[in-house]
Amino acid sequence: MGVDTGSRLLPVSGSGGRLRDLRAHEQVHGRLPNTGAADLIAAVRDAGLTGRGGAAFPTHRKLSAVAAGRHPVVVANAAEGEPVSGKDQLLLSAAPHLVLDGLQLAARAVGARDAVVYVHAGPLVALMRDLVARRAADRVDAVAVRVVDAPARFISGQESAVVSRLNGGSALPRTVPPAVFQKGVGGRPTLVQNVETLAHLALIARNGPAWFRSRGTAEEPGTMLLTIGGAVHAPGVVEADIGTPVGMLLGLGGGPSRQVQALLIGGYHGTWLPAEDLPISVAGLRPYGATPGAGVLVALPSDVCGLVETARAVGYLAGESAGQCGPCRSGLPALAATMRGLATPGRAGAAPERIAQLAGLVEGRGACHHPDGTARFVRSALAVFHDEIVAHQDGWCRATHPAPVLPIPSTGSGAR
Ligand code: SF4
Repeated sequence: MGVDTGSRLLPVSGSGGRLRDLRAHEQVHGRLPNTGAADLIAAVRDAGLTGRGGAAFPTHRKLSAVAAGRHPVVVANAAEGEPVSGKDQLLLSAAPHLVLDGLQLAARAVGARDAVVYVHAGPLVALMRDLVARRAADRVDAVAVRVVDAPARFISGQESAVVSRLNGGSALPRTVPPAVFQKGVGGRPTLVQNVETLAHLALIARNGPAWFRSRGTAEEPGTMLLTIGGAVHAPGVVEADIGTPVGMLLGLGGGPSRQVQALLIGGYHGTWLPAEDLPISVAGLRPYGATPGAGVLVALPSDVCGLVETARAVGYLAGESAGQCGPCRSGLPALAATMRGLATPGRAGAAPERIAQLAGLVEGRGACHHPDGTARFVRSALAVFHDEIVAHQDGWCRATHPAPVLPIPSTGSGAR
């Protein structure tokens, strides 16, 4: 094997390559290995694989917890509700068999006889159904897989929302406990695992923990997919070592297309940070109160108003809540309205104090982390866009470019 520096998950750079044909996939990666359950979990533990859906939880601990229960279910979660992220959809489109291999291996590791691919409604549903049927016909898979479509909502990929949908209800979060690894689909222990995590698992089973650890950092091994957006020449999905500095990642996105004033890291539940060359890893971002989340990096150009962009995103987040809990019913709409005031020169007044107060009121009070993530996002805006706040309070705005940067889908557009 040569020096391993390129993309591991994606066939060639970005979306250009496709490994949808099973034979082509096997020529590149080899056949599904026969590793036993205990050895699989040990390999994942030794590799140091963590979840790539946003929480960065150690994957071997999830596998072990579900394996300890009776009649478990495994779910490949591709419900990428974050509008700024496109990495899971690209991975499924470009290397679907790697994900399906990982799903089979996860099922073997926990002793599951039922497996599900949960993916946003759209062309990928038909693709995955076709590939699952072909693999079944070729007797590649030991465990039967069904493909279930997820509504295109921000919160439909949250673990308990996934389980609710698979149990025949709405794709809305529910109160925990019990955790889904204890009581999930059909009341059975359920492993809900992000599709990128499963693809890494499929490669670890083939190449071993040492190979996986040859990239990334000692504490956070491996590569990760990142969606690079905003003021770069070539926005899109890239694969890079965990711990890669921001400047290098922006370079992989074609380099900055305009002067950059701030970075959005982790998406709409993430954090605005000043434009500094920080390493993108949990440890590298911890001192700044940020995390890589699901690998989102947006460069905000200097000629666009960060307060306007934040207000647009918070309005979207307020509309995406399930409206089941107090913080989402009244707190987030109030936060969105106050954020709109702050984004309007001459109407900013005491909005920063009110926003800080509302963020404190919604935090920790929902059945899921939607209010918490929204509170973190607005707090970071108050810190990073301080100069804009002063300008708006004085009745003017420094922005000169009218075009928005952050993608905002129509609110609540997906079926529940
Ligand atoms: S906190 Fe909000 S998004 Fe989460 S379950 Fe409650 S209403 Fe739904």
